[in-house]
Amino acid sequence: MKKFLLVANWKLNGSKKMISDYLSSLKSLASVYSKKNIIVIAPPTIYLSQVYKDINNIDIFLGAQNVDINLKGAFTGETSVLMLKDIGVKYVIVGHSERRLFHNETNNIIIKKFNLIKNLNLIPILCIGEIQNNNYSQTKKIIEEQLNCIFKVLGKEAFRNTVIAYEPIWAIGTGLSADPKHVQYIHKFIRNYIQEYDPISIKSTIIQYGGSINSVNTEEFIQQPDIDGLLIGSASLDAKEFLKIIEIANYYT
Ligand code: PEP
Repeated sequence: MKKFLLVANWKLNGSKKMISDYLSSLKSLASVYSKKNIIVIAPPTIYLSQVYKDINNIDIFLGAQNVDINLKGAFTGETSVLMLKDIGVKYVIVGHSERRLFHNETNNIIIKKFNLIKNLNLIPILCIGEIQNNNYSQTKKIIEEQLNCIFKVLGKEAFRNTVIAYEPIWAIGTGLSADPKHVQYIHKFIRNYIQEYDPISIKSTIIQYGGSINSVNTEEFIQQPDIDGLLIGSASLDAKEFLKIIEIANYYT
C-alpha cells in the first residue's frame, strides 16, 4: 500500500513558543497517522534541534531547508550536511525556487548539494518546476533539462532513494495550485523519464507535488496515482491545518 510523504516546509517562520505549541497539538494524533504516512517537518536551521527533541518519540522525521556545498572549513555562516546528519536530520530540501531566486543557486550548486546529501545517506528533496504556467510540452522540456543536468553529472542511478518535488513556481505561495490532472500528467512524465534511464531507481524515487496545497485541495491531489506526497509551505505553519492534510492523506493510504 502507498505511503504518502508529507513535508512541512516552514521557510523563514517559527519561534521557540510556536514550535512547542505546534508540536503539542500535533503529538496527540501524529503518532497514529505517522504509522500510515511519512511526515517530515522542515523548520529553519536554528530550530532543528528543538524540533528533533520533540518529534523523536512520535515517528515524525526531521527535514532541513538547505545545506552548504562544503563539508567543513572556513565558510562562515554555513551549515554542513555532516552537521545536519549529526543532529538527526533525514531529509534535505535542495533547489527550492526561493533559493534559486533569492540566493542565486545555479544548477551546478544544486547538483553538488544533491550529491553530498546522497553520499551521506540522507534523502534529498529536489525541487523542480517551470516558472510560468505553460503548456504541457514547454513544462516537459523544462523538467527534462532539470533532470538531465543531474543525470549528466551523477549518472543513471542518480535518483535512487531520493525525492523529487514538482513545484510549478507560479503555484508556490500564490494560492493558485496547479490543476491536479496537469500534475498527474507531469508526474507520470517524470516517472517514465527516470525509468528509461534506470528501471530500478524509480522504485525508490518519491515524486511529490508542492504549490499552494491546503486542507481544501489536498484530496484532489492525493487521489492522483502518480502523486506520492505533498510539499506544503504556508498551510503547514498552522498545526490544525497540517493535521487536516495528514488526516486526508491517511484516509487514502
Ligand atoms: C513551498 O514552499 O515549497 C510551497 C509549496 O509553498 P506553498 O505551499 O506556500 O505554496
